[in-house]
Amino acid sequence: MKIKVVTRILEANERIAAENRKLFDNAGVYVINLMSAPGAGKTSLLEETIKEINNRLKIAVIEGDIAGTQDAERIGNLGIPVVQINTGGACHLDANIINEVLGEIPLKHIDLLFVENVGNLVCPAEFNIGEDIKVMLLSITEGDDKPLKYPLMFQESSALVLNKIDLLPYTNTDIEKIKRDAFSLNPSLKIFKVSCKTGEGVREWTDWLFSIAKKD
Ligand code: MG
Ligand code: ZN
Repeated sequence: MKIKVVTRILEANERIAAENRKLFDNAGVYVINLMSAPGAGKTSLLEETIKEINNRLKIAVIEGDIAGTQDAERIGNLGIPVVQINTGGACHLDANIINEVLGEIPLKHIDLLFVENVGNLVCPAEFNIGEDIKVMLLSITEGDDKPLKYPLMFQESSALVLNKIDLLPYTNTDIEKIKRDAFSLNPSLKIFKVSCKTGEGVREWTDWLFSIAKKD
């Protein structure tokens, strides 16, 4: 019985995700669903990304948090259209909640929409929102056991950004193990190593982003 209910919820989500997809396609907007645990650096990565490619692509951001507007304020400070969603407790974004705020995003005037999901390594990966791709961010301070513990995130993502690599000397994290385990779950995964603090590796990430997001 419980399985039936879950299936119905996911089917309803897929229908609305397809509606969102149509809106994005009609407007020629590339959409990235950005997922990670809390504190991995999603908003910091967005800040660095926006600084690097905003002159080449027009960007907007939807921020998903349980509470607060801090992330939207940070993005807004860069002069980027941004909408803050407060889920009031829900630990992920779904297609319906995205659909409700799309009227506030100038879709016709942007090239790239980032959706910063709620910080959580579990259910954000289960809900399509109509995105082109999912990207996950993993801070190397979270440890090298995460791919095998949270496989769905790694399986669903097209790219994995390993952040805070400047802190590597202060951890026991084995980056080669992360790569090995992540590739075993998802052989086509693209992996980037960045430090949002020092700027290391950001250029490689944004070059790739530019190459996939440019639709015309
Ligand atoms: Mg954030
Ligand atoms: Zn959830």
